[in-house]
Amino acid sequence: AKERGRNHYQLYNHAIGAQVMEYVAIENGIRQALERSEFQVFYQPQINLATGEIDCVEALARWLHPELGWVPPNQFIPAAEEHGLIVRLGEWILRTACSQTRSWQKNGLPHIRVAVNFSVKQFQSPNLCDRIMQILAETDLEPQYLELEITESLVMQDQNTVIKMLRQLQSLGMRVSIDDFGTGYSSLSYLRLLPVSKVKIDASFVRETPQNNEDAAITSAIIAMAHNLNLIAIAEGVERKEQLEFLRSHNCDAVQGYLFSRPVPAHEATLLLQAQFK
Ligand code: C2E
Ligand code: CA
Ligand code: CA
Ligand code: CA
Repeated sequence: AKERGRNHYQLYNHAIGAQVMEYVAIENGIRQALERSEFQVFYQPQINLATGEIDCVEALARWLHPELGWVPPNQFIPAAEEHGLIVRLGEWILRTACSQTRSWQKNGLPHIRVAVNFSVKQFQSPNLCDRIMQILAETDLEPQYLELEITESLVMQDQNTVIKMLRQLQSLGMRVSIDDFGTGYSSLSYLRLLPVSKVKIDASFVRETPQNNEDAAITSAIIAMAHNLNLIAIAEGVERKEQLEFLRSHNCDAVQGYLFSRPVPAHEATLLLQAQFK
């Protein structure tokens, strides 16, 4: 029994050691990646179903690690949040996305919006609005072309402060959308309180729509609710024609998903925009 106890103790110690190692390695890795410009921003089109045109692209972060290759955001965004690096990384992503969007405008392509994901931690820094305005000024992009994607969890934080910040951002001309809608634990009533203009129906409801009756019911209910609250409804994760047909017949305003395009690097997004606008 004693023997086993000691082994357990050692295993436990090793596990902690490995965690610390990993913690330090990830932190240094992200810092270094920022210095070495290993992060990239990919863009995924959103198609306006009334016009059939791309009127917005979502900016999605990627890390091209020299040894590991492409590291997906689900692996480094939470780490960046944990290590206090999300503000720096987030600002880099925002600056890159705004500057790219402005460069499309300067190159004669019609003006589209860019949707950038913001994590809760970014909203905890009190000068967020000023920083965003500064980046918009630096990149010469008008606020109306920037959309902020936030999740329900943000609102669960410090409601009054968050609502104040969102109001300020909207009064400066930016749009705010609620991402992954329907997956959080919050009640529907907070949507009424929130200064947002767009609801993104989470891909988990879209995946088996329309063949799964429950998912189809949830999807169409979110669209109807959004419209009753004067909000725009967009569905994400649209991969199949039947999903598109269902969404169209329920008056969903826009769609995003592999059916139209995967997230692509800037030069490929340029081609998609050029092809569309001739
Ligand atoms: P999200 O904001 O919900 O982004 C949508 C995710 O769905 C993206 O994954 C996208 O590539 C994927 N996707 C798009 N269309 C389809 C489809 O038709 N089918 C399927 N199966 N998937 C589709 P990605 O790029 O791996 O990003 C994962 C998550 O990481 C994002 O989820 C977002 O929460 C987070 N993230 C990405 N970039 C950023 C960023 O710059 N800042 C922050 N804070 N979070 C980010
Ligand atoms: Ca998003
Ligand atoms: Ca989403
Ligand atoms: Ca998601």
